[in-house]
Amino acid sequence: MRLRISDMPAAGISLTDTLEAANLPQLTVLAREGACRLTASVDVTLYITPVAGMYRVEGKLRTEAALTCSRCLADFETALASHFHVTYTREIPGGEEAPGEARELDAEEMGLVPFNGEEIDFKDMLQEQIILAIPMQPLCHTDCQGLCSYCGTDLNRGECNCRADTVDPRLAALKNLKLPE
Ligand SMILES: [Zn+2]
Ligand SMILES: [Zn+2]
Repeated sequence: MRLRISDMPAAGISLTDTLEAANLPQLTVLAREGACRLTASVDVTLYITPVAGMYRVEGKLRTEAALTCSRCLADFETALASHFHVTYTREIPGGEEAPGEARELDAEEMGLVPFNGEEIDFKDMLQEQIILAIPMQPLCHTDCQGLCSYCGTDLNRGECNCRADTVDPRLAALKNLKLPE
């Protein structure tokens, strides 16, 4: 997904596209690691407005993914959606400023994405936005009961026998603790 700067009307432009997961290398890596596999293509809409020599982008994306529940370890499918704002700004040629790394970090913190040349390629930014849309601790259901920490039974499917008299493992250590009188 690209935009030639010379095709950019002063009033702004709206672009839509559908990206195939197979063409998104960062997502392919995540799928190989088992972290997240996209199960649908990614629908993207970008509204791009030129502002003072920069290009402000409001974007929306939507796709579907297979994730692993962080509590019960079951695989499940869920929709991933994101609404984001970034601003593309031209890289300063020559870069007379201090060490590039520090400068890049500052730019990213402000939601600024550097580009050069006559067109903007949105692909890397979009891959990043998809990754940011993946929950850090995915849950198959908000009330997922998880696995019994003793016998491993999936508590969504029924209770196990060890459940009634177990102590929270975080508190188990306290059970034998002798407190001074
Ligand atoms: Zn679960
Ligand atoms: Zn159990």
